[in-house]
Amino acid sequence: MNLINVLLFVLFTGFVFSQPQPSVDFFKADIDILPDPDFKRINGKVTYSFKVLNKTDSVFLDAKNMDFSSVLLNGKKVRNANTKEKIVFYKKLKADKTYKLTLAYSTIPEQTVYFLGWEDSIPHNNQIWTQGQGKYTSHWLPSFDDMNEKVEFDLSLTFDKEYEIIANGRLKDTLTKDSLRTWFFDMNKPMSSYLLAFAIGNYNSKKFTTKIGIPLELYYYPGDSLKEEPTYRYSSQILDFLSDEIGIPYPWQNYKQIPVRDFLYAGMENTGTTIFSDGFVIDSIAFVDKNYVNVNAHEMAHQWFGNLVTEKDGNHHWLHEGFATYYALLAEKKLFGEDYFYWKLYESAKQLQKLSNQGKGEALTDPKASSLTFYEKGAWALHILRTMLGDTAFKEGIQSYLNKYQYSNVTISDFITEMQKASGLDLLKFEQTWLKSTQFPFDEVKTFLASSSDDLQTFFDLQWELTSSNTNNEELIKKVWDNNSSPRIKENIILDYHKSLSESFLKNAFTTEDLKTRQALCITTERIPSGLKIQFESLLQDKSYITIENALYRLWISYPNDRIAYLERTKGVIGLPNKNVRLLWLFLAVLTKDYLNDVEKADYTEELFGYTSAEYSFEVRQNAFSVLAEVFPLSDQNLLDLINASVHHSWQFRNFARSLIERLLKDDKQKERFLKLSKELKGKELRYIQSKLEVK
Ligand SMILES: [Zn+2]
Repeated sequence: MNLINVLLFVLFTGFVFSQPQPSVDFFKADIDILPDPDFKRINGKVTYSFKVLNKTDSVFLDAKNMDFSSVLLNGKKVRNANTKEKIVFYKKLKADKTYKLTLAYSTIPEQTVYFLGWEDSIPHNNQIWTQGQGKYTSHWLPSFDDMNEKVEFDLSLTFDKEYEIIANGRLKDTLTKDSLRTWFFDMNKPMSSYLLAFAIGNYNSKKFTTKIGIPLELYYYPGDSLKEEPTYRYSSQILDFLSDEIGIPYPWQNYKQIPVRDFLYAGMENTGTTIFSDGFVIDSIAFVDKNYVNVNAHEMAHQWFGNLVTEKDGNHHWLHEGFATYYALLAEKKLFGEDYFYWKLYESAKQLQKLSNQGKGEALTDPKASSLTFYEKGAWALHILRTMLGDTAFKEGIQSYLNKYQYSNVTISDFITEMQKASGLDLLKFEQTWLKSTQFPFDEVKTFLASSSDDLQTFFDLQWELTSSNTNNEELIKKVWDNNSSPRIKENIILDYHKSLSESFLKNAFTTEDLKTRQALCITTERIPSGLKIQFESLLQDKSYITIENALYRLWISYPNDRIAYLERTKGVIGLPNKNVRLLWLFLAVLTKDYLNDVEKADYTEELFGYTSAEYSFEVRQNAFSVLAEVFPLSDQNLLDLINASVHHSWQFRNFARSLIERLLKDDKQKERFLKLSKELKGKELRYIQSKLEVK
């Protein structure tokens, strides 16, 4: 998975250790699924082949809240018990024999399968998709919450033929009958249940093979053909780079990527079938602000680290997230250069130092560690290990680790053993400092960075001089600024030292063409002095939506007489997928005196207030609620949308909505409105708002 939300996943779901079942080995599953969007139901049938390793008289599968219409062992009825958590069947089974278990079932998944857009009348926005990790595939398929059970899952899905269906493996065949089509997918290697996935929606795709011959399928919404290139930029280079860098060929038949709406994370590395947030579907201007490159590389790296070799349990989570983060960083180094790589390592080191200094540092072997530790400290640990071992021994160790444990499960000590063998080094001290200690060795890391990057050496020297010398800060900074062409040094100088820089220095700094440095100049200034007005106005033309948003807001606040001109210059700009520029623009336009006539004002107000509706992504809705709640009274429809948001499947959006509701309920008038509106509600929404209205 990638970053967003992972902290909560780790805290609440990652470490409910599932029961192992050592007496049997499930090795093959043939699955037929019929999703029913009208009732948000999954109807299915699965036949598992399994081998008995030690004689036993009962076997179970995890199956949440399922109804079984038949349970057959080798085609015959078998005594069973459905606990609504598991399906257990009872039969004396002899060792070394192979059996077939067939289950027909139906369920309305509480989680793991998400049905979106089926209740509204908007065409082409219907989707169904899954999220297995942290949510448990056993909510839609009787399967195994224990990651150690690896099965070759062959999935067939039957659905309305107008839709595109994507699942793990190679699409072997399709069969169309009237309005229905069955898609037959074929896997040829085993994986853990949490990596099983499917997505259903309206998609076009670009299919091709990479230079080294890996079939790649990149999906996009039919209206997004111009966004396909910037969204998926470098995809095939990254996949080829990773295969070469890791030194073990890509382990699966193909690689597919599917954006979906309101996804729970940034991305999820289902085997060969990454599902990711459509908030990364961007145009080429947004590329500088928010691109998919890092998440793209991260999920690809998981295809080896996590999918090919899988942790035995949460104690070994470093082997997934640290590795995916590190290899994604290596891919970015290949694409964007060494400076980019070392500045990014420096950024994460600063965050880790902060955590460590607050006494909140965490060990990588702690299954409850935060995402910052698993991802960023995890990547640092690997980079230090690589530096200790040298490229050759490091790569040799990685390869023997992957070869030895392919399609099975691993522990951190399995990995360390292979690295020791490859290098001949004793890694005890490494393990102590980097895996077991809760501290982050910032000084050691800084020395290391300075010796690796001239850029960072220069920057650290400047930091040191500024804290230790009596000379005027700006003189010291100017010397570095003038003698250095590195845009990252300039950007960081502005971010860290803008307060000690004069207007004339800043004015000169604006002559840089580097978009990130210009953005730093923009966001570090609240009120724009008249001497920098022209410079700030030029930012409205920059190819960055974050810069345009911040510049527009600051100019509008600082120069009331020019508001209309600024709005005219940014009219029609939508911005990032969360519509950052458009929402701000509408907000400012409605508030600007003498800008709009009555009809325009009504239209724009309607548009602005409309963005809280469930027909938009939660990023847009959250942005709209934030903008509206500050200044305008929310309409009844906004309040209904807010209640709807309070039971959304994305926890961060749900929490945002709930805290806004709580804030509004403090006002008796608002409470009265909620009470009145609650009469129109039912189900989860009604239950939630009632629970809030009852609290005194
Ligand atoms: Zn990940």
